[in-house]
Amino acid sequence: MISWQPIIDDVAREVSPHIGKGKVAAYIPELARVDANHFGMALCTPDGRTYCAGDASIPFSIQSISKVFTLTLALQLVGDDVWKRLGREPSGSAFNSLVQLEQERGIPRNPFINAGAHVVTDIILSRLQDAKLKVLHFVRGLCNNSSVVFDLAVARSEQATGFRNYAMANFLKSFGNLNNSPDAVLDAYFHHCSMSMTCVDVARACLFLCNSGILPESGECVVSPALTKRLNALMLTCGTYDSVGDFAFRVGLPAKSGVGGGIIAVLPGHFSVCVWSPCLNESGNSLAGTAALELLTEKSGLSIF
Ligand code: GLN
Repeated sequence: MISWQPIIDDVAREVSPHIGKGKVAAYIPELARVDANHFGMALCTPDGRTYCAGDASIPFSIQSISKVFTLTLALQLVGDDVWKRLGREPSGSAFNSLVQLEQERGIPRNPFINAGAHVVTDIILSRLQDAKLKVLHFVRGLCNNSSVVFDLAVARSEQATGFRNYAMANFLKSFGNLNNSPDAVLDAYFHHCSMSMTCVDVARACLFLCNSGILPESGECVVSPALTKRLNALMLTCGTYDSVGDFAFRVGLPAKSGVGGGIIAVLPGHFSVCVWSPCLNESGNSLAGTAALELLTEKSGLSIF
């Protein structure tokens, strides 16, 4: 069996020159207040072990990592019908770009760009009463931690300044690809993005992705093995925005990033790992976090390739 703790400790040591390089996301004012010098990492294995380094137990804003959880829930609720309203190709453009949406007549390229997540949120809103809370409970159940909360200051901050998301949701509505009002969709979406979780929480919550869809602790089936394969394929091809090719080249794992500086990555059958460091590269992925995952796959010799 691989000895993870010394590998994680080496990664944390070697990544330190990268910490604080890049820029904290400032377009959501509340996110700009975070200390840029954090670095945390947690790796979980399906046999119940967790290996940590640095700030692995400090909660951070998961932002777009929430798109993995909401897509999982939408797939549970409506299955393949999701694909009537969404594509599954990499976008090759920024996560909040409007241009492609116009050209492709309101069908977002994939569920992991903002417009795609608006559609996913709309699907959940149409199916569940009190959808916001249902998503929170779903995530709490995945990581077995009832203290996961919405960071209301972050949600309100984005509600007050998320003009581009408002433009996008209205655009989707004009193409007939939202059933609920743009305001209702965005209220839920901003709350989902504001979930505050630690690296340990996020890595635990994604263990089902490396365990054929099953939560290892309880044996509960979250999604089928076939859907798990698809979620991982989408993360590999669409999870890190317009640098998805470079990310696959360097790291070689299905992953999803968020502008809070978190990245979740999984190696099916082996582990889920979450890194967090707030400063982002130009594509909006954590700069030190990406470097840490690259070091992890190099040092362990394990990736999907
Ligand atoms: N809430 C953020 C937004 O909509 C999420 C983006 C991200 O993490 N990439 O802009």
